[in-house]
Amino acid sequence: TLFAHPDFDDHERILFAHDAASGLEAIVAIHSTRLGPAAGGCRMWPYASEEEAIADALRLSRGMTYKNAVAGLDLGGGKAVIIADPRTQKTPELLRAFGRAVETLGGRYVTAEDVGVSVEDMEIVRETTAHVAGLSSGAHASGDPSPVTARGVFEGVRRAMKVATGSDDLAGRTVAVQGLGHVGRHLCALLHAAGARLVVSDIDPARIADAERVFDARAVAPDAIVATEADVFAPCALGGVLDDVSIPRLKARIVAGAANNQLARPEHADALHARGILYVPDFALNAGGIINVAREIEGRTDERWLDERLARMVDNIEAILVEARDRGVSPNGVAEAFARARLA
Ligand code: NAD
Repeated sequence: TLFAHPDFDDHERILFAHDAASGLEAIVAIHSTRLGPAAGGCRMWPYASEEEAIADALRLSRGMTYKNAVAGLDLGGGKAVIIADPRTQKTPELLRAFGRAVETLGGRYVTAEDVGVSVEDMEIVRETTAHVAGLSSGAHASGDPSPVTARGVFEGVRRAMKVATGSDDLAGRTVAVQGLGHVGRHLCALLHAAGARLVVSDIDPARIADAERVFDARAVAPDAIVATEADVFAPCALGGVLDDVSIPRLKARIVAGAANNQLARPEHADALHARGILYVPDFALNAGGIINVAREIEGRTDERWLDERLARMVDNIEAILVEARDRGVSPNGVAEAFARARLA
């Protein structure tokens, strides 16, 4: 059932969109429009089952509500998932059919790119809906949000280091980056420039080779990155990486990365806390991209607004980490309470 689903959390609306001609099978989950139109990216992934896709859509959309609330944006939370392999099943017809589905929601949901979907894809989605952001052309186009997401994660890693060690200097620190995609690669560039040593993993050998060459990174196998000796573990691939198996294997004292829904279950935040690992809540840390998208939705072009919002986001993160430290609790609960207070 859906209403009794463990990840169903008072979601306002869920759209199941199907288009036989293009093969579109999509789920748009609107968790909350309390603070404004629900905004969140569209993910394309070859889910093994519909149940898996539904659970992902529900969890991701709720995460967007919290993320937008903590970032201080006047946006609600929503997310779309398309059940398809982006390498073989992504066609312009399918993207246009997705746009038509988004258009039926009349602006309650604004879509953008996420895993498996690019800025170029969103230009096609735009042909059939007005409710799309993260575009590369047009009056307020904000383009690929990933560099801004990476900037936010990078600054957040520095603040976490400051809270954990008293210094935000990353020179000589080791950061283990899982996933060298849009965000992971930009993050590596910033970390490398700051003098950090990089250990990386990806399932794509070309991305590994690039990181070895450009950032002097050391590569490890995908299943070894969690247990790498490092100061920071930065998950930048998919969600659910922090679970009963991985948490006991972690060697880093800080977990801070871009991936959404890193905790397999909420109680894994406490498991990290019990091990003395500082976990920076993903939804607070990876809001740079949606801040960039919000700038486009609000029709702004100025960089100052973006810089000011990013600075506020990073200050919020430090405040959350300090409060959690002072109270001896996990930062995750503190960040969620921060979001709930704004929603109330
Ligand atoms: P992406 O698809 O560009 O990159 C993901 C990378 O992870 C790819 O290189 C892929 O090969 C790799 N990968 C997949 N499985 C892996 C595994 N088991 N081990 C190691 N690497 C693996 O996606 P992205 O845009 O960089 O986003 C990364 C994460 O950050 C996602 O969880 C996304 O939801 C989240 N996020 C992204 C943004 C953004 O601005 N793009 C914003 C907020 C959150």
